[in-house]
Amino acid sequence: MEFRNYMEELVMEILDDVLRGKKEFCSCERCRLDTIALTLNHLPAKYCVTDAGRAYTKLKTTELQFRTDVVREIVEALKVVRADPRHKQPSAADNRNQSTDDR
Ligand SMILES: [Zn+2]
Repeated sequence: MEFRNYMEELVMEILDDVLRGKKEFCSCERCRLDTIALTLNHLPAKYCVTDAGRAYTKLKTTELQFRTDVVREIVEALKVVRADPRHKQPSAADNRNQSTDDR
């Protein structure tokens, strides 16, 4: 068994949906992760204990209650990230730049 923040799953899932519909936002990994972190900071954590997926399934039924809030926060976070993107190159955001940050 383990603790999971259910909001993490929900934000990642919904972000993909939102990005599919809004091509004006960058969907590179850096911007996605920044958006997820920003969104999660604005939402209450929803911890649950997963026991082979059973508690998780039960929480799925309450998903709709959060969904509207999550979508709103994601869109706000996307705007913040777009205004000040941390990716290095819009088109070269794949693998090449990763070695600049090792300590
Ligand atoms: Zn980006």
